[in-house]
Amino acid sequence: MNQKTGKTPSPTPEGATPAMAQWFALKAQEPDALLFFRMGDFFELFFQDAETASLALDISLTTRGRHQETPIPMCGVPVAAAASYIARLIRRDFRVAIAEQIDAPPKKGDPAQKGPLKRAIVRLVTRGTLTEDELLESSKANILLSLIRLKSNAASAPIGAAWIDVSTGELETSIVDVVEVDELLSRIDPVEILTDLHDLVSEPYRSHVVRDLRIPDIDIARLAVARRFGLTQIGSLGPFSDEEIVACATVLAYVKRTLADNVPRVSRPLRLDQSSALSLDPATRASLELLSARDGTTTHTLLSAVDRTYTAGGKRLLARWISSPLIEPGTIAARQEAWKWLARTPSFLDALQDVLKHTPDLARALTRLSSLRLVPRDLGAVKVALLSADRIIALLRPVYSDNTPEYIRRLYTGLHRRADPLLNKLEAALKPDLPARLEDGNIIAADYNAELDAARALRDHSRQAIAALQAQYAARYEVSSLKIKYHAQLGYVVETTATHANRLREDNSLIFRQGTANLARFSTDELISLERAIIEAADRAQALEVEIFTKLAHEALDHPALAGMAELFSLADVLASAAELSQEGVWCCPDVTADRAFEIEACRHPVVEEALDDGTHFIPNDCALPPEHRVMLLTGPNMAGKSTFLRQTALAVILAQAGMPIPARRARIGVVDRLFSRVGAADDLARGRSTFMVEMSETAAILRLAGPRSFVVVDEIGRGTSTLDGLAIAWATLEALHSQLGARTIFATHFHELGRLTDSMPHLTPYTMMIKEWKGTIIFQHEVRKGAARKSWGVHVARLAGVPEFVVNRATRLLAALEAQQPGIAAPLPLFEPLAPSENDDTPIADNAGQTETLAADATSIHKVIRKLEALDPDSLTPRDALAALYELQRLARESGHARRDAS
Ligand code: ATP
Repeated sequence: MNQKTGKTPSPTPEGATPAMAQWFALKAQEPDALLFFRMGDFFELFFQDAETASLALDISLTTRGRHQETPIPMCGVPVAAAASYIARLIRRDFRVAIAEQIDAPPKKGDPAQKGPLKRAIVRLVTRGTLTEDELLESSKANILLSLIRLKSNAASAPIGAAWIDVSTGELETSIVDVVEVDELLSRIDPVEILTDLHDLVSEPYRSHVVRDLRIPDIDIARLAVARRFGLTQIGSLGPFSDEEIVACATVLAYVKRTLADNVPRVSRPLRLDQSSALSLDPATRASLELLSARDGTTTHTLLSAVDRTYTAGGKRLLARWISSPLIEPGTIAARQEAWKWLARTPSFLDALQDVLKHTPDLARALTRLSSLRLVPRDLGAVKVALLSADRIIALLRPVYSDNTPEYIRRLYTGLHRRADPLLNKLEAALKPDLPARLEDGNIIAADYNAELDAARALRDHSRQAIAALQAQYAARYEVSSLKIKYHAQLGYVVETTATHANRLREDNSLIFRQGTANLARFSTDELISLERAIIEAADRAQALEVEIFTKLAHEALDHPALAGMAELFSLADVLASAAELSQEGVWCCPDVTADRAFEIEACRHPVVEEALDDGTHFIPNDCALPPEHRVMLLTGPNMAGKSTFLRQTALAVILAQAGMPIPARRARIGVVDRLFSRVGAADDLARGRSTFMVEMSETAAILRLAGPRSFVVVDEIGRGTSTLDGLAIAWATLEALHSQLGARTIFATHFHELGRLTDSMPHLTPYTMMIKEWKGTIIFQHEVRKGAARKSWGVHVARLAGVPEFVVNRATRLLAALEAQQPGIAAPLPLFEPLAPSENDDTPIADNAGQTETLAADATSIHKVIRKLEALDPDSLTPRDALAALYELQRLARESGHARRDAS
């Protein structure tokens, strides 16, 4: 955690006043958190906490009392406004410990309390354990992650990961290799991390690692996790590895600690297989701006461009679909079938969306109820959600048939009358407008509970009795302005102006309580007993309301169907969103297949299209990369639309495999196992990596991991170094992608020399961005056509960008001179034999890891040399035998050299 330390040296507790001694004791429990110490209507912070918080919150720093003869730095926030201050601190990665008074404040007439009120930390507010609506982003999951390697394991051993969204109770686990940690982080985007594997956590996640880590050992972890899910032994939970169990236990123990044992409901862990999703590394996610843009905003992202959901849960699920596209064509087709059916059933779709608009966030409401911070509106949300379920079923029934797609059938069975008795009860029990806080009362409707009705009647009757008494007194003392009022310290009093006070003072049955220059206050025995009756009846009514409410809340929480219903509302919303999107202009349902097809007709970039404002139309483009022409070499001037084309094609793959419509006329996409996108330069100065270093390590990642099922879009490889270095790197990378890795690739470049490689690379096809030259200037047509660009037009674009004319003119002359001098690039150097996989290679997914080696092994003559060498036992050879073996090896090596020359 990024806990900024204050300036004052840490004080010691010696000589502290009783209240400050309490502060020291609580601070020692959570030294890494800012301690919000309850003092009446304020939370106060002291010492370094006060200095840090006053700076972070921009509130004034003052002092309160002295400790060890020095004034104590102090700042404070009103309890009523604390949530917004805490939210600001949490957003800046602080943790906040809330110390509440746990003794009830003394009542009127109680003997004076000795010493300060007892206080305890009732909550440690951290980013990963939030459940409050006001502290959470409604449309974003809020993930707490734990990464664990067992102590007994080697440094390269797999790591157990467990992550939870405390706000919805979803717990998931996975086993990841060291090299997959980065990808997992970028996929689930945790806001808080529990791990001691600091080196594996890269920026920007490093600042989310919790310093004060407590990892249980495996036996304790097994017990704790089994107990958490009410199991006698951990095996019944499913086939989880020890690493995953320890990771789960670490996460659950942290949640328990932060919520002071008030642990909200948590679903049983779900195990995720990393290989069941399309692999997208962090660089690819950043380059494609899926859920957030490079600058951290969310307005111009893929998610924002395709989101037509109405519920917060729907938005969270859609984000998940986009960040974890699938790789199994059958599951993708099931999603497609469902939204296509909705699009074909418009009357139901419109009505469904109307219901969803008014459906609350059931998952988060249930979590808050389960953490026993009982908010009446959360139970109200359960009622409204159940009503929504009934409405959806009523709408679905007339259009439902045996041919309804699987996902819609799932909606039907999951929402159909699953909680009727509970709904009936909530409808009868809850008032329509519920207060924000339980203590405000007025939650339970009349006629639901006879005892409550009686207590309320008594309370209200006593109030009427007071009104009658006021009239009686006014008449008796002939003071028409006499009032009976409730006074915070004195209770109910007869109040009159000072001028009439003497008249009342003469009556001994009135007890004079208070007088000022203007008025006098009295009490009477009748008033005192009425007041007691009112208080007792009101207390009883309130206690009954709390009791009834708590019972209902438990009934809702124990209901087995509600958590699943929350997921189904989100699913319905995402499917409806996809159906709506598919009807906006030209969007299609892509054919996602198991082969290596790749053909998209008239594809667009949804974000760029949305951003074009000045009446310009987005120009759609085709992209065909069949196995025999799987590599596209794309050249064209700056600003012609290359990056846009690369990104839109990659985004189409993501949407297609998420089971969503894509912005194109027609598409057939052979499922992709790994997608790499390197478009747009970025440096990583925080990790000490220059732009070129980043570019090269990202290229290295592609060359290490891409295979025949992968899809690669790269822009300007080699741009960050000298021309010849860059050209050489781009050339070698293109060769590797084409001949060894076999990935479907779009390779955009300004190195026009690479166009010549089409002669030696059968699967490479040159494409270019069309432009029109007109009176020495160019018009961008944003159209991708077969062919190669003749020049870069960089100097021209520099002029467009406003580079001063004298520099542009000079650059034009220099360019002409340089072009005249350029010797031209030599023909491709002969490599070792091309390692092209066969044309119809239908290697199964994820089977490509050993491909490079397998292909290389085809060089049988080299193999012979190796085998011969392996068979030798140098220790048993005589000098003569050794010499003979050396001659033999040389002969084999020469044979292999001839074979390679013949092949090339
Ligand atoms: P550079 O080589 O300088 O990075 P580029 O060729 O990659 O340029 P882009 O960044 O893709 O060019 O596109 C430049 C601008 O052209 C975009 O911001 C967009 O406004 C517009 N544009 C790109 N493609 C299209 C298109 N298909 N239809 C309409 N406008 C487009």
